[in-house]
Amino acid sequence: MKPPDDALIYNTRALVIRKTDYGDHDQILTLMTQNRGKLSVMAKNARKSVKRFSGILELFYALDVVIRENSRMAHLQEASLSEPFENIRKDILKTAYASYFSEIVNRFLEEGTRDEGVFDLLFHTFSDLDSGQRTCEETSLFFQLKFLGLTGHKPELSACIACKKTLDHMDHVRVLFDVGEGGIFCRRCNRGTGKTLMLTKGALKQMIWFEETQPGKASVIRFSRKTLLESLAFLERFLPFHLEKELMSLKFLNTIRKE
Ligand SMILES: [Zn+2]
Repeated sequence: MKPPDDALIYNTRALVIRKTDYGDHDQILTLMTQNRGKLSVMAKNARKSVKRFSGILELFYALDVVIRENSRMAHLQEASLSEPFENIRKDILKTAYASYFSEIVNRFLEEGTRDEGVFDLLFHTFSDLDSGQRTCEETSLFFQLKFLGLTGHKPELSACIACKKTLDHMDHVRVLFDVGEGGIFCRRCNRGTGKTLMLTKGALKQMIWFEETQPGKASVIRFSRKTLLESLAFLERFLPFHLEKELMSLKFLNTIRKE
């Protein structure tokens, strides 16, 4: 066993997903790192002196960091800016979406669980928000579906979870989705129990398409805005349900969208 003061020093790329002040001088950052999963680090004197980290410890920034970690705490030793995604911070709606994605990552993932897939997804998502290549709604749909897949909460959208009858063989325009079971039911198998909602076939097909597509390629097909909003409303209900927590950033996002 290693002695408690046997510190480990390593470099990694990281996205800043949360930032809180600590005392008068310091900050605690929550990072989604490329190599070490989600990680909370102490940034000593980050508040006291802007020079200490050149003023780059900002939300949604991609940084290259050097971390010194012992059994008690991880400390940020050095940080250099990799990608500021500055258009996110200039736009309140983009900021609201980035906050929502960050809170999802922060609340779903345990500290220190290695997850390169989630880092890559969040990096691509911030990059899409920044470039505006896709709309915020498309970016959000893509992020949420991919994130559910990566964390083992993928909803069953293409076939009845009881009898495996596929979506294409269901006659009704609207299909029943059981939130607790995490999938669709055909009319024959639905027992009318549980927490259910109705989804159009169009929204289901749209979500299946987003699940299967790769980052940066989702702008090839344009879906109707109505379908897009239906899918978004569904995911924004489904995700907090599985998280069993209310997401503060979702309230903020809803306020911004109303304006
Ligand atoms: Zn069925």
